[in-house]
Amino acid sequence: MDATIKTYLDGIKDCGTGRFEMHRVLRQHHHVPPRPVADVRLDGGRLCLDFVNTIHDRYALEVEDYLQQLQRFLEWCIRAGALHSDDNVHAPRSARQRAALMREVEGLRDHLHALFAARIDDVRAPADAVRGLDRWVHRAWAGQSLGADGRLHWRKDVRDARLPLKRIVLDALDLLGSTPASRLRRCANTSSCGWLFLDTSKNQRRRWCAMETCGTIDKIRRYRHGSREARARRDGLRG
Ligand SMILES: [Zn+2]
Repeated sequence: MDATIKTYLDGIKDCGTGRFEMHRVLRQHHHVPPRPVADVRLDGGRLCLDFVNTIHDRYALEVEDYLQQLQRFLEWCIRAGALHSDDNVHAPRSARQRAALMREVEGLRDHLHALFAARIDDVRAPADAVRGLDRWVHRAWAGQSLGADGRLHWRKDVRDARLPLKRIVLDALDLLGSTPASRLRRCANTSSCGWLFLDTSKNQRRRWCAMETCGTIDKIRRYRHGSREARARRDGLRG
């Protein structure tokens, strides 16, 4: 990890825990401790989908939320490319502001999940999710100015911990309004996954968020099922 970012993250770790942590503990009592951010998979194929997939998993009884604390959220943003080492963003200092930011992270993630899920299921998108994304899109646009190079740049005064969320929002808007959205899929492992991904395979028949995770689980399940049936057949013949 970049040394500047590490110092930055270490600084955040030490500032204003107390009330913030209490808030999280109370809210997350059905959650299991999350794995290290470095081990989080990025299988969505788009930044906005990887963000939605930071819950492991939406079908599980015990949810593992990769972004349980602000420090983890920022670490994940760096890993996923939503935050760059030269962004020099300022994280909120007070526990109240930090808690408010994390509520925004969770709210946006839920809205995006609802919008993508509606697209996949071919149903009308929930109105509150549409309104939620609309607000974020306007915030993101307002944070940019046209430079002499003819390109949009993030203004200095919006370089805070919400900047990665704005990048995610613009990526989501781009995806929802483009042809690849027809290739949006939900992992076929609906008993313990539910991650979303963009199917960029040639034949467009990708079923799993990743072959080495859910694809393998399915293979093992089918193998066990097959052996059980074979055993039952053998036993039947013996009897
Ligand atoms: Zn999966």
